[in-house]
Amino acid sequence: MSDCVFCKIISGEAPGDILYHDDLVTAFRDIHPVAPTHVLVIPNQHIASVNELDEDDEMLVGHLFIVARQLAEREGIKISGYRLIVNTGPHGGQVVYHLHLHLIGGQRMRFPMG
Ligand code: 5GP
Ligand code: ZN
Repeated sequence: MSDCVFCKIISGEAPGDILYHDDLVTAFRDIHPVAPTHVLVIPNQHIASVNELDEDDEMLVGHLFIVARQLAEREGIKISGYRLIVNTGPHGGQVVYHLHLHLIGGQRMRFPMG
């Protein structure tokens, strides 16, 4: 989508600290990190949110998680632990409407959520 900032990062039109890219997904560092590691893993295809996923996307969603785990290992936080978050819609706190999985770690996460 032409006005989507994450599509622009994938295409190279906008700058991004890209850590990983393959046929299905791209991962880059969040511009406003909330922890020492804060990476966004996104589908290359523009899908606005979880609400726009369909049955054919099951493999893609699984791949987002596998890539997030690989990046957690690369970032050295696989054993210490991390949090994976997908904000969806206004009450979910979604700001960018291109589906993304937050990988956050490098410090103990705070509770409770919500
Ligand atoms: P959401 O609230 O939609 O789940 O999270 C959107 C995330 O995207 C936020 O953590 C925000 O800091 C990040 N973000 C927004 N614009 C940009 C950008 O242009 N580049 C990068 N790398 N991250 C962005
Ligand atoms: Zn997009």
